Amino acid sequence: MPIVRVALDVPLATLFDYVLADGIAVPGQRVIVPFGRKQVVGVVMECAADSDLAAERIKPVVRVLDEIPPLPAELLTLLRFCSDYYHHPLGATVLSALPVRLRSSEPVTFKEALQYTLSVSGCTLDLSQLPRRKVVQHRILTALQAGALSAAQLRALSPSAPSVLKALLQAGWVEALSPGLSPASVRGEQIAFNNAHTLTAAQQQAVDAVMQAQGYGCFLLHGVTGSGKTEIYVHLMHQMLQRGGQVLLLVPEINLTPQLENYFCSRFPDAELASLHSGLADGARTQNWLRAQSGQARIVLGTRLAVFTPLPQLALVIVDEEHDASFKQQDGLRYSARDVAIFRANQRGVPIMLGSATPSLESYYNAQAGRYRLLQLTERAVAQAQLPTVRCINISNAALQHGISEQLLSALGQCLQRGEQSLVFINRRGYAPVLMCTACGWLSDCPNCAGKLVLHLQDRRLRCHHCGHQARVPHACPGCGNTDLQPVGIGTQRVESALQEYFPKARILRVDRDSTRNKGAWNAMRRQIHDEAVDILVGTQILAKGHDFPNLTLVGVLNPDSALYSSDFRASEKLYAQLAQVAGRAGRAGKPGEVLIQTAFPDHPLFSALREHDYDRWAKILLAERQSAGFPPFVYQAML
Ligand code: ADP
Ligand code: ZN
Ligand code: ZN
Repeated sequence: MPIVRVALDVPLATLFDYVLADGIAVPGQRVIVPFGRKQVVGVVMECAADSDLAAERIKPVVRVLDEIPPLPAELLTLLRFCSDYYHHPLGATVLSALPVRLRSSEPVTFKEALQYTLSVSGCTLDLSQLPRRKVVQHRILTALQAGALSAAQLRALSPSAPSVLKALLQAGWVEALSPGLSPASVRGEQIAFNNAHTLTAAQQQAVDAVMQAQGYGCFLLHGVTGSGKTEIYVHLMHQMLQRGGQVLLLVPEINLTPQLENYFCSRFPDAELASLHSGLADGARTQNWLRAQSGQARIVLGTRLAVFTPLPQLALVIVDEEHDASFKQQDGLRYSARDVAIFRANQRGVPIMLGSATPSLESYYNAQAGRYRLLQLTERAVAQAQLPTVRCINISNAALQHGISEQLLSALGQCLQRGEQSLVFINRRGYAPVLMCTACGWLSDCPNCAGKLVLHLQDRRLRCHHCGHQARVPHACPGCGNTDLQPVGIGTQRVESALQEYFPKARILRVDRDSTRNKGAWNAMRRQIHDEAVDILVGTQILAKGHDFPNLTLVGVLNPDSALYSSDFRASEKLYAQLAQVAGRAGRAGKPGEVLIQTAFPDHPLFSALREHDYDRWAKILLAERQSAGFPPFVYQAML
C-alpha cells in the first residue's frame, strides 16, 4: 500500500510514515493523521512505495484534506532549505509557514471574490440619457466601463454601492463574472496605473537596471529618505504586472501595512492586492493566502511571514527598509525574511530589490563585493525638499531639565511660534528607566531577568520591558525602608509631562507602544497629526519610520549615546539607521527641516557622518572596525 511521509508540528527532526488506505495524495497536500492519542494536521512531503517500519506499526491516514490545492513543490523546497539552514525541525518549519486555519482540521473554503462587469446591454447604454441625480449609479457604470471590478472595489466608490449594484444587476446592465477570471486576464493584461510622477533620471536608471536583468539578480537600492524609492517600486511593479507576474512586497512590522495597502490600491486600482501580517484575523489571513496561491492576488504586501506565501506567477520581490530588525524572526524558526526572500528570488530566477536609506552592513558589503548590484539615489525626489540640517548639542557640561537642554527648548518654542510641528524622539517608553533609593542606592532591578523595571507613572507600575514582569510602585525602599525614591533617567512620559509644563498651551501627543496599544489608536493619532491638531510629538521609533508629516520641521533627539558604547556590536549601526530615519521626517515638503541631537560626544564619527548625510563614509568606518575585530559580515556567527 502507498506510504506518505508527513511533516507534523512536533519538535522532532523527522517525517512520519502513514499508509494511505484510500484516496490519493501528492506532496504538499494536507492530511489528518493520528499522532499519539490525538489527530493532527500534517503536510505530505514525500510519497513512497514502502517504509522502513514494520507494516503493522504504520497507522493509516485519517483523511486527505483536498479542498484547497497542495502546496507547490517550490515552496516545499524552500521550507526544506529553511529547516536545514536555520536548524529547526522540518515539520515545525512547514507548519509554521501556514496560516493558523490551515494548521487545523476545520474545513476551509476559498471564497473567490466575484467580479462585476457591464453586460452586453450595459455596454450600449448612453450614460448621458440616465437621470443625473443618480450619482452613485453613474459612478459605478463609469467605473465599470473601464473594466471589471470586485464588490470591494465598488464599495470603495460609495457606501451605497451594494444596493445600487443590486438594482443594476436586476436591470440586467451589470453581470457577475465567473470566479477565477482575474480582471487582468479579462482585459489582456492592461493594468490600470496611476502614474503620479515622471521618474527622475536616477529613478529611471534604477528601474531599467532591474527590468533588464535576465533571471535572478539582487539589487540594493540605496536612496536617502524621500529620494523616491517607493516610486521606483511602483514603476517596477507596474511593468511586472503588465507581464502577468505577481509581486511580493515585504515591509517591516510597524502598523503601517493598512496605510501601504491603501496606497498601492490607489496606484493600481484594479490589480488585486492581498495583505498578510499578524494583525489580520485568522480567516482573512487564510483567504488572502489562498488568493495569493491561486494567482488571483497580483500584489502580495506583507511583513516577514509573507515570505512563505505560495506565488505561482512570482516575477519580482521587493524588500523595503531591508535593514529593519523586524525581518528577523526571534523565536521558533529564527529566519531572516530578507535572506529567505533572496533565496526565493534565486530559486525562481527573478529579480529582487532591497531598498533602504541605511542598508544593513551585510547588504552593503555584499554590494561592495559585487554579489548585489548597487543602485544609488543621492537626492530627494522633490526639488524643494532639501535634506534637513543636522546639528549636535553638546550636553557634557549642560544643565538639563528632565533630560532636555535649553537650546532644544528654545528651538521647540520657536517652532511653536511659527505654527509648525516638532518631534522629540527618545527611545525609552515609560516615565523613567529606573527607580532609585536616595539613601541606600537600591535600583528597581527585575526579579526575573537582567533588565531594570521601568517606572510607568500613569498607572503607577514598574514594568520590565524585556520579560514583561510587572509590579506596583513601592511606597518605600524594599532595601532600607526610605520613602524618598527617585526616578533616574528619562522616558517618553517624563518628557511629555515636562514639555507640557514648559509649553502649557502646546498640544502635545505621546506616541509609543503604551499609547498606541489599543486597536485603531495609532490611526486616529496619525489623523490628528495630519490635521495639525498636534504641535509637539513625543515618541519612540514608532514615529521614525515611513511617515510623511508635511508640517513637521524640527526633530529633537534625546539620549542616543548609550548605543555608542553598547555591548551589541550592531548597536551603532542601528543607531545611525534610526537617527537617519527620524531625521528624514523633518522638512519633507517645501519647508526646511532641522534636527538637533543631544549628545556628550558630538565629535563621534557617527554624528559627523549623519550631519553630512554621508552613509557611505559611516558604513566604511564600521566595516573597517568589523574587519579588524573579526565580526560579521567578515565572519559568520551562530548562536547555540
Ligand atoms: P522614499 O520611499 O525614498 O522615502 P518616496 O517614494 O516616498 O521616497 O518619495 C518622496 C516624495 O517624493 C513623495 O512625496 C513622492 O510623491 C515624491 N516623488 C517621488 N518621485 C518623484 C518624481 N519622480 N517626481 C516628483 N516627485 C516625486
Ligand atoms: Zn534604600
Ligand atoms: Zn525582566
